[in-house]
Amino acid sequence: EEPMKTILVTGGAGFIGSCFVRDVLESDTVRVVNFDALTYAGNRESIPADSDRHVFVRGDIADRDTVTQVFEQYVPDAVVHFAAESHVDRSIDGPDQFIRTNINGTYELLTAARQHFSGLAGDAKAQFRFLHVSTDEVYGAVGAKGYFTETTAYAPSSPYSASKASSDMLVRAWHHTFGLPTLITNCSNNYGPYQFPEKLIPLMTLNAIAGKPLPVYGNGLNVRDWLYVSDHCDAIQTVLKSGHVGETYNIGGNCERTNLDIVHTICRTVNELCSYLPHDCRSLITHVPDRPGHDHRYAIDASKIRDKLGWRPARTFEIAIRDTIQWYLDNPAWTDHMLSGAYRMERLGGASNG
Ligand code: NAD
Repeated sequence: EEPMKTILVTGGAGFIGSCFVRDVLESDTVRVVNFDALTYAGNRESIPADSDRHVFVRGDIADRDTVTQVFEQYVPDAVVHFAAESHVDRSIDGPDQFIRTNINGTYELLTAARQHFSGLAGDAKAQFRFLHVSTDEVYGAVGAKGYFTETTAYAPSSPYSASKASSDMLVRAWHHTFGLPTLITNCSNNYGPYQFPEKLIPLMTLNAIAGKPLPVYGNGLNVRDWLYVSDHCDAIQTVLKSGHVGETYNIGGNCERTNLDIVHTICRTVNELCSYLPHDCRSLITHVPDRPGHDHRYAIDASKIRDKLGWRPARTFEIAIRDTIQWYLDNPAWTDHMLSGAYRMERLGGASNG
């Protein structure tokens, strides 16, 4: 019998990483080593308990000794690297942690992976992969027409996207210079369950339910391409299994919406699902000054992953957004714990206020 394969997942307690972990534990027979620092964005309530197939390790990817030790102890067959600071607004308020985690952290992982890879032989060496999860924001803004392809020049606009672009460049270099078998995916905006309520869709959903203002940046006409988080994770599994080493794959939902469209859809859906609410959610929409450096439009051309690897999104926006809103309605405790920090206090052994 073949021994169980091990995937080292970084950032597996965050929004997308936790979805990947839940999905891969269900669809595959691998063991997942989930390496996450549990920043404000990470939550063990988003992932299964420890078992023979899921091992949680709390640690910082920018910490060389811990990273080296994880590779030595668990001998991964593949690395899927999600861990990052991920929120553009936070990167504007304080870029330090973005440089440290996204750039230095990726560098430390690459260094440890290179060392680990050099010690592998045979099938283990042939099959090893380092998959770096990145964003379409590295390409900067695109005009009203046109799409980002895998060969579009990088032109990041925010400290967040600049730090992700830097990490992509390091990953490329580790492939070209050191022969590390890397894969890079650049995906558009994700939405779905377990997303921290600082991001557009959960924030607007929760405010709409609570009767709080729905703050839309500027005129709300910025365009983003949206993809359901499980479809993204499915694409990552596809690239991990069949992607061509050294290459980049764009992942998108072919689903462009203005921010205002998104907020209107949320209002309509919340009005319908919560007919007991005393307010019409549309009356809560308020326009606030635009984010500095706000890119007008992102649009992904995902034809490479579709044509070469046969991946396409399984869910339509209309169905998945409804399910997502329903999930937030059904899981208020998860959100409360995330927002109150109660979860983190319990984790550190402190008292929580219930
Ligand atoms: P998230 O903020 O929800 O989760 C990030 C996770 O990384 C958290 O669990 C956090 O605890 C962990 N982490 C942060 N710093 C760490 C460190 N120094 N060491 C170890 N763990 C650390 O982010 P997300 O939305 O799930 O995004 C995951 C990845 O996908 C990121 O690399 C992001 O750039 C990329 N991405 C996100 C989107 C999106 O729409 N959310 C789209 C495309 C790509």
